[in-house]
Amino acid sequence: MEKNNIKKNNVYISEEEKTLDWLEIQQSFKKVFGNEVYTSWLQKISLVKEYNDYLILGVPTRFFRDWIVSRYLDKILEQVKGFKLSLNRIEFKIIEENKGNNELSKIEELNKVTEIKDSLLNYNRLNSNLNFSNFIQGKSNDIALSYSKKVCEHLSRYNPLYICGGVGLGKTHLLNAIGLELQHENNVMFISAERFMYHFIKSIKKNDMVNFKDFFRKSSVFIIDDIQFLRGKESLQEEFFHTFNSLMDKGSQIIVSADRTPMKLDKIQERIKSRLAGGLIVDIDVPDFDLKVNIIKKMIQEIEIQFKEKINLSEETINYVANECKTNIRELIGILNRLIAFSRVHNKVLTINDCKNILKDVFTQIRVITVDKIQNIVSNYYNIPLAEMLSQRRSRPLARPRQIAMYLAKKMTTRSLPEIGRRFNNRDHTTVIHAVKTISRLSEQDDEMKKNINQIKSILLDQ
Ligand code: ADP
Ligand code: MG
Repeated sequence: MEKNNIKKNNVYISEEEKTLDWLEIQQSFKKVFGNEVYTSWLQKISLVKEYNDYLILGVPTRFFRDWIVSRYLDKILEQVKGFKLSLNRIEFKIIEENKGNNELSKIEELNKVTEIKDSLLNYNRLNSNLNFSNFIQGKSNDIALSYSKKVCEHLSRYNPLYICGGVGLGKTHLLNAIGLELQHENNVMFISAERFMYHFIKSIKKNDMVNFKDFFRKSSVFIIDDIQFLRGKESLQEEFFHTFNSLMDKGSQIIVSADRTPMKLDKIQERIKSRLAGGLIVDIDVPDFDLKVNIIKKMIQEIEIQFKEKINLSEETINYVANECKTNIRELIGILNRLIAFSRVHNKVLTINDCKNILKDVFTQIRVITVDKIQNIVSNYYNIPLAEMLSQRRSRPLARPRQIAMYLAKKMTTRSLPEIGRRFNNRDHTTVIHAVKTISRLSEQDDEMKKNINQIKSILLDQ
């Protein structure tokens, strides 16, 4: 520890620079990420040093850091910005380096950092804030919402119920709402696929598969979130397949969410996909203007009630935010939190210009989107090898995704047409122009295309 630094509640920082209350921020993590992610990961992050525009956070291991960076960094940054607007970067320092790089030591580390203190049951918690009564209905989620409610009335009629949609559109919220609704009269198991994997690895290590199987197979309602996470993990899929079958055999209701339809799931066994597609599939689309406005108003109302204070956001500002925020509801809420924090601190009614300033970096994207990233995500989305997507072959299943990737590269990066052409296997810039025109036209005329493009965009923005 450096001289003249204080250590208090895991916080290391020089006195004069300290403005953040880390404990308070951690409490907000708990709310935003939920107990599960919080206790497994975020709680273990300490504040090492605070600068005006960035933070150094301490993490126990390299694996831990990579995990946090790949999954939660954007959201963490967004959250701490709510406490200090000038922050634009987070760096990590490994406080207890753990040497060794093989698979086993990774599992060791995983075990170490997420050590389960209590029983498995502890991780089956539902978040009481994500219920049906605060899920706002709109055109984009109407069907998903109504079948989620129907499932609660008629167990096993729609089995499995499969809810799909891009990130931040309300899947976890709906799953959680179903769980809350059913938990009193049923044995409800609610788990993310990621958590399922964690228990699986842990049980193998402890040689305790019998308990694992029993535990998951005894539920009468099994809710599993983000099933796309099973991608490429063969032994985990094997286990999931058997769990799924045995639950179906005994008539348990299964509810699954994913970021895409079953058939578009990538690196997931065919037999699992066809099981998943065997019930009812409902999807959630990106929110339209009205839904966004309604969500903003409801949030303001809730905050006003909770904190007994007036939130100063004009109708005009609300419309502005709803219009500008094009990706998803999670982002919408993040933006709203920032505006509210700002209006509180400065105690003023925000003008559109204030909003523009505050949100400048949000709308121009803090995240750097590169042509590489676009190519990877598009080829992944369409489940085709990258090399084929970039190749000279002209068949439609390759050419369309290729054109979409070019279109997005033009729209989402600052690269010039010739530069983009070069990145696509040395194509001419006229080819890129043609692609941009074609996809622009199709995305206006064809709903499916529009939807796919929106989904790819939100995956890109959520990276
Ligand atoms: P997903 O699981 O699809 O990535 P979430 O369910 O985590 O998305 O939703 C992201 C955030 O948006 C959550 O805070 C959730 O409560 C909120 N949200 C999503 N849809 C709605 C809705 N229709 N009404 C109210 N809040 C919503
Ligand atoms: Mg989710």
